[in-house]
Formats: sequence, C-alpha cells, structure tokens
Amino acid sequence: MIHDFAIIGAGMAGASLAAELAPHARVLLLEAEAAPGYHATGRSAAFWEETYGGPGVVPLTRASGPYLAEHGFLTIRGALYLGRAEDRAALAAHRQTFTAAGVEIVPCEGKALSAMVPLLRPEWCLGLHQPACADIDVAGLHQHYLARARQHGAQLACRAEVTGLRRSGGVWQIATARGENFAAAAIVNAAGAWADEVAVRAGASPIGLAPLRRTVVVLRVDPPAPADLPLVLDINGGFYFKPDAGRLWLSPHDEIPSAPCDAAPEELDVAVAIDRFEKVTQWRIAAVERRWAGLRSFAPDRLPAYGPDPEVPGFIWFAGQGGFGIQTAPAAARLTAQGLLGLGPDAMTAALDREAYAPARLLLQPGKQGLAL
Ligand SMILES: Cc1cc2nc3c(=O)[nH]c(=O)nc-3n(C[C@H](O)[C@H](O)[C@H](O)COP(=O)(O)OP(=O)(O)OC[C@H]3O[C@@H](n4cnc5c(N)ncnc54)[C@H](O)[C@@H]3O)c2cc1C
Repeated sequence: MIHDFAIIGAGMAGASLAAELAPHARVLLLEAEAAPGYHATGRSAAFWEETYGGPGVVPLTRASGPYLAEHGFLTIRGALYLGRAEDRAALAAHRQTFTAAGVEIVPCEGKALSAMVPLLRPEWCLGLHQPACADIDVAGLHQHYLARARQHGAQLACRAEVTGLRRSGGVWQIATARGENFAAAAIVNAAGAWADEVAVRAGASPIGLAPLRRTVVVLRVDPPAPADLPLVLDINGGFYFKPDAGRLWLSPHDEIPSAPCDAAPEELDVAVAIDRFEKVTQWRIAAVERRWAGLRSFAPDRLPAYGPDPEVPGFIWFAGQGGFGIQTAPAAARLTAQGLLGLGPDAMTAALDREAYAPARLLLQPGKQGLAL
C-alpha cells in the first residue's frame, strides 16, 4: 500500500498533524520508540503562556487556545513575570510588546504581589500578571490526537526508527529498524530533535536545528506550595516555577546545546535551579523529589519550520517547535494540514501567516546563521 503521508515521529507534532490529515488522506505514523511521547512531548512543563516563544509564536498560541479550552485540556493558572527595581525597563518592554499582540497583562506590585507569591524576597518587587495563562493536560491532548488519527484510519507503527529514505517514480521507499519497509507519496519530518538527521537521510539540506537541553526539578517545600500559585517566571529568563500537589516544579530555564539523545538532567543544572530559587523566595526546600530533562529544538530564527522543503519534492517539515510545541499544536497542525491538502483557512487559522513559518526562509538564504543563544 502506498500511503499519502508517512509522518516520522509520533510526539505532539506528528500526532496532531496525523489527526488533521487522516480524515482526508491515508496516513502512516512511524515512531522510533516503543511508545509515542517518550521524548520532548513527555517532558514538558505543561503550560499555555501566550507570550512564550516571542511575538512570532503568539499567533499560533492564541489560535490554539479555544481548541484546547473547548476540549477541556486547559486549567487556568495565571502567569506572573517577576523583576527587581533594575528590571523595570525589561518589564515595560515585555508589557508593551505583548499588549500590542493582544495579550492581557496587568502590572502588579507591593501587597498584591506578595499575596500572589508567598515568601517572595523583598527585592523582587515588580510583577506583570497574565491572567489567561493555563496548565495543559499534555498526555490527554497527545492521546486525543492519536485517537482521532486512529479513528480516521491512520496507522501507527512503533519501534520503527526510519533508517533509510529513497524516492523513485514519485514514491518514497521507507526502510525501518524493525525490518518492515513502507511506501508513501510524501514524507513529513516531525522527528523533533532528530529532524535535521532525518532530512539528511532523505537527501534534503538541514535547517540548522539546535536541540537545547532544559531541566525541571520537583521540590518538596515547607510550607507546601499553594494550589493557586501562578506560574512564576523571571523577566530575564533565569527561572520559572509552578505548583503541583503542594510541590513545586522548578526550572533554571537552561538551554544547553546537545546532540539529539535521551536527555538526562545534570547535577550542575539542578544546583543552579535551586540556587536561583533560593535567591527569589524564602521557601525551605525539604527534598528534590524528581528531576528530568528534555530537548527543545530551535531553528536559527527560533520560529518553527512548517511546510514543503523548497528543494526536495514530497519532503515536508514539521519541526523546530522549541519550547512551545504543546501550546501551539492545534493551530500548527491545522495550518500545515490545510496547506498540504489545498484547503482554505478556517476560524482557527484565518489570522495566521503560513509564509512566516515556511522552511524556505531557512534553506534558500546564502550563509545560514547559527542560533543566537
Ligand atoms: C523541559 C521542557 C519543558 C517544556 N515546556 C513546554 C510547555 O510548558 N509548553 C509547551 O507548549 N511546550 C513545552 N516544551 C516544548 C515541547 O515539549 C516540544 O516543543 C514538543 O514536545 C515537541 O514535540 P515533537 O513531537 O516535535 O517532539 P518529540 O516529542 O521529541 O517527538 C519527536 C519523535 O520523533 C521520533 N523520532 C526521531 N527520529 C526518528 C526516526 N528516524 N524514525 C522514527 N521516529 C523518530 C522520536 O522518537 C520522538 O518520539 C517543553 C519542552 C521541555 C523539554
């Protein structure tokens, strides 16, 4: 059987796109691991935060919000960007940039700030509250997309690392590590941190994707973290934390360059996280209960790459989701599927500019730039 689309990678990217394509086309989803969601998708901090990823990502995040809310995947938490007196300009710039993009942002100081974040050290005296920020049920969303894809006839093959890609007569011949071979008219590269490696296997040019390691620790704190604590973020990108069942999920907001791999947390990054946390709050840390790390993969301009490769026919990119691949999944998948199927925009995608995310911007420019860290 020749599939219309063979999607490589069954994380949030591959699963969401499979769900959008399957009602219209024969879809095959190929996953290297024993189960989908083992890599970045299973390791996220699970928030929907409208400004996260920068102004170019805001439209995708905001367009995804209604779908996530309607299907019950969001629980309102609110976000609070924190700063000290010397961060006043950075906070003002954040407020100006993202208010212009339509995000509700409310300045917050003094008693209102300490009511929102107990045990805050007094030098962290300035805040911006974003009431719409929400927790995402990531596992629920991923299963929802896998189930929708399956209902519409998509086939999922796990333990099926794609090891070879060859195109002849307009059909891709796909070799997998499990020995089974497949055929498809088009390949979709949704391989997360491995997307550049998959491109090279297909004879396409890499886009310069940089996988960056991010660490999360779960702290048992005294007193326990209140359930209504917002997601608290440093305006200068040094940390974020949020509550979970009395514990705190804390990240040092690290971005350590890495080869594509099964990422693991480093002791140093755990220590940095705790050090930064102790400089912000006076919470007593009783124990580090869990820790994990995952790879967030960015194109050089930090925008995602969605759509056909400009040089290799039948090779489609759905990669570079960085730190926003969960919160943007509904709109990203819908927009990309509409492009591949020749369908017009709908209410979710009407305000989106597909060209802003086209891979051609990364592949056709002479002297490609490295990622600005
Ligand atoms: C610590 C952390 C916190 C984050 N927090 C958030 C957040 O709060 N909100 C948010 O929106 N995003 C967040 N993200 C980002 C988000 O997790 C990613 O953008 C998203 O999961 C990317 O999905 P993906 O499907 O592209 O990648 P992945 O989930 O990594 O999936 C790619 C899949 O491709 C498979 N694969 C690779 N090569 C092959 C091959 N040759 N053959 C077959 N299969 C292959 C892999 O096995 C993998 O399962 C966070 C990420 C991290 C690490």
